[in-house]
Parts: sequence; structure tokens; C-alpha cells
Amino acid sequence: MNRQIYLDYNATVPVLEKVKNSLINCMNFGPLNASSVHYYGRKGKNLVEKAKLNIARLVNAKSDNIIFTSSATEAINLVFNNFNTIVVSSIEHLAVLSSSKSNLIIPVNKNGVVDLNAMETLLKKINKNRKEILVSVMWVNNETGVIQPIKEVINIAKKYGCLVHCDAAQALGKIEINLNELEIDFLTLSGHKIGAPSGIGALINNNKFNLTPQILGGGQEKGIRAGTENIFGILGFGEAALIMSEMPKKNDNQVKYLRDYLSNKIKKIRPETIFFGENSDRVSNTLLIALPNIPGDLALMKLDLESFSVSSGSACSSGKISKSHVVSAMGYQDLASNSIRLSFPPNDTILESEGLITTEELDNLAECWLDLK
Ligand code: PLP
Repeated sequence: MNRQIYLDYNATVPVLEKVKNSLINCMNFGPLNASSVHYYGRKGKNLVEKAKLNIARLVNAKSDNIIFTSSATEAINLVFNNFNTIVVSSIEHLAVLSSSKSNLIIPVNKNGVVDLNAMETLLKKINKNRKEILVSVMWVNNETGVIQPIKEVINIAKKYGCLVHCDAAQALGKIEINLNELEIDFLTLSGHKIGAPSGIGALINNNKFNLTPQILGGGQEKGIRAGTENIFGILGFGEAALIMSEMPKKNDNQVKYLRDYLSNKIKKIRPETIFFGENSDRVSNTLLIALPNIPGDLALMKLDLESFSVSSGSACSSGKISKSHVVSAMGYQDLASNSIRLSFPPNDTILESEGLITTEELDNLAECWLDLK
């Protein structure tokens, strides 16, 4: 029987070995409620502070500005509940699109990049009669892997006096994030995208904006997000962040080699394949492709039967497959149900710790793609 090949790292990264070991040590240590005043409580609080320092170091932020939440989704909701006017790009994750309920949309071009001219026109129009506007553009798109021109987005947003939120869930661990260099007001992150357990996210309130909490209770996280701290999630996020910040700066050669090897193979044997965002600046681990007459759910099931775990359309929590709003927004409405996302480990460190994917395995995958009918 073939080895199961997991190519859905943008959905989640398995918990890293080192993270697992730290968690086991911590679980063996004893009770850890970071809000308690005694010895065990102080130990818990210490772990939370250390995790914040590790995450802060990874993105060059101040640890004091980090608020832990249950997910990036919760962190995004926390920010958005503080604004009435939110401008979003058309390719944002559903965590952004659903919680902003915005009809102020920045379109993207055929290559999956936000249209900066359209953004400026929109802001010019709306900022005349509204006070506080939040602009939310993701750093890296989860389906295409396309890196958005975040510096330019910030410049335009600031020209019109807007605050900026950036969903960096898919950027973390893949490209450099340096908050010291960018005027981002809110950055949201997700632990399970870099090898922490799922159920932990973070908001970096970079300019200490006075946020009204959405969860009230015992005043944890400076009163902005109440609820006993998820100490194991936090510890895992901190440990994974430490591993990411100790990696070499350029750490995606192997991942890129594998992704491009597969791309080239597919291009050769099935040239009618569409490669989304291929001409844009992209992270190295992501490949979004489609065949004109093959529904994505069918392709996914056939690849699954051949031991390849990939994803199709917009990832859905319920396990159902929906049309991709990202592919539609890029102008490929007729392919919105056909896309398949193959996502390799976010970087070479995680690729190595997970066990390398061989080119023979990718040849088999390309053969399966050729056989799709
Ligand atoms: N934003 C992006 C771009 C994502 O890819 C995801 C997860 O898939 C999220 C936000 C939500 O993250 P979480 O699972 O922590 O809620």
C-alpha cells in the first residue's frame, strides 16, 4: 500500500515534534492556571509571557501588544467588532469576509493581486463622509499563495486616514514579517499554520488601539479577551514561533523545488491545466490548479483514493466543498468549482521534520492528474 502523502499544509501543519515534547513536559509538570497567584500560577504566567516573547521576536513586534485568542478567526472578529466601516479585498478568507459583512470590496486582477487603483478610488469615495475606516487585506492568500503588495496597501490606506488589519495566517513561517517596518495596526495569526496545536490564535494590536472586548469575564489578556488561558496552545504557539525564528532567512529552496517539479510535470503531461496566480509573487509551497471540465470534488476524491490528501475549492469547516470565491474573484467564474490546492510544508525546516516528499511520489501524483476524466 502507498504511503499517504499529505499536501494540505495550508489547511493545517501537523504539530512539530519539538512542540510535542515541550507540551508533554508541560503537561507532566502539573496544574497551570496562569491567573493563579501561587507557584503553579506564576509558572503558567511565565510560560504565557515567554510564548509572547517568541511570537514577538518572529514578527518583530512588542510582546506587550499580543493578545491570545482561540484562533485567527476569533482575533479577526475581535478587531472587526470594533469598526462599523470595513473595506476588504475580494479574496480574503471567510473569517474576514463573514465577520466584516462588508460590501466595500477591493477587487483583484487575473493574477490574484489586489487592484491598488481600485482601492484608492474606493477609499477616496467613502472617506469623505465616514470617520473611522478599517482596511483589511491579507498578506498571503490561502488558496493561490499570492503575496499581496502589503506596503502599497498600507501607504494608500494611511493616505486616507484608515486603520489597517492584515490577516497574516498564511504568511507566518513562509515569508518574513517585520512589523517594525510597516504601519500595520492589527495583525492576526494562527498557531496551527506553523506547527502548534489548533485552537490558538493571536492578535497583535500594534498601535495599542483601544479595543472593546467581545468576550467578558475574568479579565485575562489585559481584559481584552477573557477566559482561562489555553496554556498548552499558547506554549505550543510560542515553541513553534521559536523554531520559525531560528530558521535561516531563505528557507524554502526544497519546498519550491518540489512544487515547481510537480508544476512542470503537470504542464508537460496535461497542458490544458490552468495554474492560478502563477505569474505573481507567490509563496513557494502553494499550487492552485484546475482542469476545465473536471469538478474539484471529483478530482479530490480520485486523488484521495490514490493516497494524496489535497484540498479543493474554499476549505470548509463542515467538510463540504463550496465554489472558490477566490477563483471567481480572479475572473475565472467557470472554474470556481474545479480548483485543487496542493500545499507543501511552509518551509524546508518543516519539510525535513515531516519526512521528505520524493519526486517519484510527485510523478505518481502527476500521473493521477493525467488520468482524471
Ligand atoms: N486566515 C487565513 C488566510 C487562513 O488560511 C485561515 C485558516 O485557514 C484563517 C484565517 C483562520 O485561522 P484559524 O483556523 O486560526 O481560525
